[in-house]
Amino acid sequence: MFDLTGKAALVTGGNGGIGLGMAKGLAQAGAAIAVAGRDAKKNADAVAQLKAAGAKAVAVKVDLRDEKACRAMADDAAAQLGRLDILVNNAGINIRKQPQEYSLAEWREVLDTNLTSAFVCSQAAYPEMMKAGRGKVINIGSMMSIFGASFTTPYAASKGGIVQMTRALACAWARDKIQVNAVLPGWIDTALTRGARKDVAGLHERVLARTPAGRWGQPKDLSGIAVFLCSPASDFVTGTAIPVDGGYSALG
Ligand code: NDP
Repeated sequence: MFDLTGKAALVTGGNGGIGLGMAKGLAQAGAAIAVAGRDAKKNADAVAQLKAAGAKAVAVKVDLRDEKACRAMADDAAAQLGRLDILVNNAGINIRKQPQEYSLAEWREVLDTNLTSAFVCSQAAYPEMMKAGRGKVINIGSMMSIFGASFTTPYAASKGGIVQMTRALACAWARDKIQVNAVLPGWIDTALTRGARKDVAGLHERVLARTPAGRWGQPKDLSGIAVFLCSPASDFVTGTAIPVDGGYSALG
């Protein structure tokens, strides 16, 4: 039910943090992995880690803010792995400021990276999934898909948009046997949130106090949900937005 042997997965931002945590889960379930990111060294390190664990893994260097590059990445991944069954739209950035301080260029950078690229990559992966006769897409949202915060206007807009885009794609592609779901991570210890803890005083302690599980998440906490949402176990699950947050969003 959870076997991914023979499947090929493309994970954007798969060279570190949550993306690599998900890629490791998919690889452990048997999938071949294409890791995509801007940083060639991080890409190579991630591929080496996946290969050391016995997986087939390749890297694609890409800047997802560029539409043509997104489409070339999907083609490259499919060419290197021979097929494409799974797309994880995980790459993301944040620029933390008060709303009145953002330039339009900063707003666009966050929306282009977090939301528009996920749409373009989904479009680009669709023909390969149609060829395979089925497919799985996971889009990464956030607690900011549900809640607001003073320092995160474009990020929250992008992550709210991810959930609505997920629902629309799920409706459109359900009869093609392509399931599209969103995962909403709670506070996970990665490069992104190490930056947040530097920028936002008291964040570390506030997250600990607000998370019923009493700890920050680790990238490996996202492995299981990735396997579930990419395996036959979830073939009748589509259009959902599933928090993986140690109970953060359940606490009133
Ligand atoms: P990281 O900073 O560790 O990872 C971000 C990834 O995105 C990197 O692999 C980076 O690769 C890639 N990336 C960023 N911009 C681009 C770009 N223009 N083109 C290609 N790749 C790009 O952060 P996380 O692992 O924490 O974040 C992963 C996702 O999870 C994001 O969407 C984030 O919003 C979301 N998330 C994270 C939470 C957390 O607590 N950590 C909570 C909720 C959501 P490279 O450096 O090579 O460009």
